[in-house]
Amino acid sequence: MFCPKCGSILRPKDKAGKKVLFCSCGFTKKPEEEMASIKETVKSAKKIEVMDKLDSRPKIKTKCDKCGHKVAYYWTQQTRAADEPETRFFKCEKCEYTWREY
Ligand SMILES: [Zn+2]
Ligand SMILES: [Zn+2]
Repeated sequence: MFCPKCGSILRPKDKAGKKVLFCSCGFTKKPEEEMASIKETVKSAKKIEVMDKLDSRPKIKTKCDKCGHKVAYYWTQQTRAADEPETRFFKCEKCEYTWREY
């Protein structure tokens, strides 16, 4: 590891029980493992987002009014007031026509 400030090799040092990398110029860096775990968390969060976009929603057997396809994705969503029942949404697997059930 090199110092981003001056380019010198960083040296490990125990600081308040935690291992930190420090440089003679005064620069200190958090341990690499900690940095990696933060990156990992960001990565997995992104993965979930992508999965959602790829329609990882559960599928249900229902008929699409538009194309007659018999499989649709479904999910529930709370609309307006919290005391109102959830609305069920359906999205045709084939033509992507979306409708909801009251
Ligand atoms: Zn330095
Ligand atoms: Zn359809």
